[in-house]
Amino acid sequence: MRVRVHLRSPGRVDGVVRDIVDGRWAEPEGIAEQTLGEKSIALPGLVDSHAHFAAPIGKDWQSDDYEEAVGRARQAVLAGVLLALDKGWSNLHTIRLIEEVAPHLRPEVEAAGIINAVEGGYWPDFARELTSATFEEGIRRSADEGKGWVKLIGDWPRRGQGPVVNFDEDQLRRAVELASESGSKVAIHTMAREAPSLAVEAGVHSIEHGLFLSRNDLVPLGERAGMWVPTIIRTEAVVQQLGPESSGGKLLLEGLENVRELMPEAAEAGVNLLAGTDVTVGAHDVALEASRMVEYGLPVPLALRAVSWDGYTATGRSTGYEPGEEANAVLFPNDPLDDISVLRHPELVIRAGRVIS
Ligand SMILES: [Zn+2]
Repeated sequence: MRVRVHLRSPGRVDGVVRDIVDGRWAEPEGIAEQTLGEKSIALPGLVDSHAHFAAPIGKDWQSDDYEEAVGRARQAVLAGVLLALDKGWSNLHTIRLIEEVAPHLRPEVEAAGIINAVEGGYWPDFARELTSATFEEGIRRSADEGKGWVKLIGDWPRRGQGPVVNFDEDQLRRAVELASESGSKVAIHTMAREAPSLAVEAGVHSIEHGLFLSRNDLVPLGERAGMWVPTIIRTEAVVQQLGPESSGGKLLLEGLENVRELMPEAAEAGVNLLAGTDVTVGAHDVALEASRMVEYGLPVPLALRAVSWDGYTATGRSTGYEPGEEANAVLFPNDPLDDISVLRHPELVIRAGRVIS
């Protein structure tokens, strides 16, 4: 059966028309048995740029159920999340699901393997704990096991000391070199003051949380089209866990104010500002993060880029429904530029050529 899809982008009157042939976009030809999207607004997909499919949402994080991870990936597709950048975990469930689960049952996924930290520099018994002696070997291994990403924990609070940096700038630079040798990118978790600038200086590809990125960091990060994934919903949840009056909570609230100020400037500087869920809400809820970015003062067009197109372009993908490319799209009943909350309610999802409603 020939399915024809009208793909009209937000804010546009016209659009492109494509047929789905063998799971791929094709120029329309002949008569279609089914025509979709004539009244819809299309995006190439929602993108969660900080997912953890292996992470139980709102449950014991040490839970280790592979089938649940597969279920979360499936749930993401149903919600229109067609690309996810999984930033690693304590196991390799996401790597396994990329290899085992058919494309239409999961988003397209890039993923880090086991997260890298140092002793005392993350949750106990969770990450690969590197020492200066095992650093290079650990990063190489991480790049080998991952699907395109190596994840580092850049800073972590120590009792009585506040946040401490896990890696110095030379190590970060070396991590970028080693990862690049196998075509991988480096993502760094940072919620404190010192690590963002070190990471930007060292060429790290993606700053996760990045609450204390500075104005001075935006120019070099933007010049190399680096990524920043602020994860506002996640950070707010950590504030609640710590208590807004605790020293940690106060620091994060200060960081969130910095995020509020810097997001529009980051986009202006050419930084790929991206929406990511982390572990408070699942990848299927990344539209909530885009709405939260808007509530933080980010103009709707920029939030829309952050949860869709920029995730594609930042990772070297096209967004133009080009003939020959795998057919992926999400259709919405209204224009998200008018009301971004419509992103939570796709009317139709096309993943790997299959129409899922
Ligand atoms: Zn995370």
